[in-house]
Amino acid sequence: MYAPSDDVARLTFFGLHALQHRGQEAAGIAVSDCNRVRLQKGTGLVTAAFTEEKLAPMRGSFSIGHTRYSTTGSSVARNAQPFLVETRHGPLAVSHNGNLTNAGELRNDLLQRGIGLASSSDSEVMTMMLAGAEGASWEARIGSAMASWEGAFSLTVLTRNNVYAVRDRWGYRPLSVGQLPGGGHAAASETGALHTIGCRAIREVQPGEIVALGHPALRVIQAVPAADELARCVFEHVYFSRPDSFWDGRSVHAVRQRLGRELAREAPVVADLVVAVPDSGVPAAIGYSRESGIEFNDGFIKNRYIGRTFIEPTQSLRRQGVALKFNVLAENLRGRRTIVIDDSIVRGTTAGPLVKMLRDGGAVEVHVRITCPPIRHPCFMGVDMGTHEELIAYRMSVEEIRAHIGANSLSFLSLEGMMRGVGRERGYCHACFSGEYQFEPVPSAKKAEFEAAIV
Ligand code: SF4
Repeated sequence: MYAPSDDVARLTFFGLHALQHRGQEAAGIAVSDCNRVRLQKGTGLVTAAFTEEKLAPMRGSFSIGHTRYSTTGSSVARNAQPFLVETRHGPLAVSHNGNLTNAGELRNDLLQRGIGLASSSDSEVMTMMLAGAEGASWEARIGSAMASWEGAFSLTVLTRNNVYAVRDRWGYRPLSVGQLPGGGHAAASETGALHTIGCRAIREVQPGEIVALGHPALRVIQAVPAADELARCVFEHVYFSRPDSFWDGRSVHAVRQRLGRELAREAPVVADLVVAVPDSGVPAAIGYSRESGIEFNDGFIKNRYIGRTFIEPTQSLRRQGVALKFNVLAENLRGRRTIVIDDSIVRGTTAGPLVKMLRDGGAVEVHVRITCPPIRHPCFMGVDMGTHEELIAYRMSVEEIRAHIGANSLSFLSLEGMMRGVGRERGYCHACFSGEYQFEPVPSAKKAEFEAAIV
């Protein structure tokens, strides 16, 4: 963010709060006053990592922030972002969403050149590469580093007197910029967060672009050419993004409703009630209900303050999360044949307990409908599903999953149906469903790969 007449740290705090669903393991903010960069970070939610006392001294006009969700590097404090280093060109701080597929190679290269690393995160590798990059300006140095990075990166980069928003040439992860009402600009992973802080004139940072925010007008540099075939993450539409965000110019909420309609056409069932697994299942359940003519009503009540089970870093935390997170509305369920709409089944730890809760609440049949195809392949581009073994649809057939979760029936949306719901045939990554990767998956992309030597 560049906000010359605002409390930049506080605005960043609210922006991060609006992005809390993207990562709950750690949060951080770095602020520059054109002289020094101050950094604060801590583990847990944004509200746990920041207090009034921590925010108050963070004065300046330029800032970046981060909420962490671990894909490479474990969920420990030293992997929290932003990373901040002193360079020969002044201070440099970096926040990264995504995952480099060639991080192992780049990491070895840095170590061979005698450059030490303090964490196991690929984002630190990017930070150190930027610190050592050649070029007459930060734009040139960022551009030259971008050319050697493969995989997913939406970055914000803070220097003494500028902020840059940077996006990989495949466009894996979202990143948008907007104009702040009090002057200046902000960039964020999701347009929903930009709306939270009052931004107008919002546009995407296009694949391969560097956008410099620290001027009265945005300066846009096409640092590397956009890939011929873009690879936006389709899972952002299905699960990850806020429903009030726009991704690829499409309302995520509207896409999810269309996914529900497609599912109703592909997998109809005779039933009395459609319910959603809140929150991301709700728009799809409305779509399913409208298409099928079956009543939609609440089946689950969610405690919104527990957090999303999928993005918690360990299996045991995820298991506890389900039981603590939902209650059922028995008066809506009693004696009714119930269709439950969920966005995805990844590890298969939550679906079974949810089906049981519906039955315990009085549902006489439970039909599970999922708004994407079975996830049978790992993601190496920034979503935490890094091995085949952890994916239930890799280990089991659809019928075996149905039996495992105790549902009367189970259907997944087809790949074609999902892309129809998105409204695009091309330009998206769907590797976790189809196995069609833009890059040859390399073992170095695994999450804990760099943990062995640093404990
Ligand atoms: S593999 Fe799946 S989760 Fe990963 S970037 Fe591609 S679509 Fe998104």
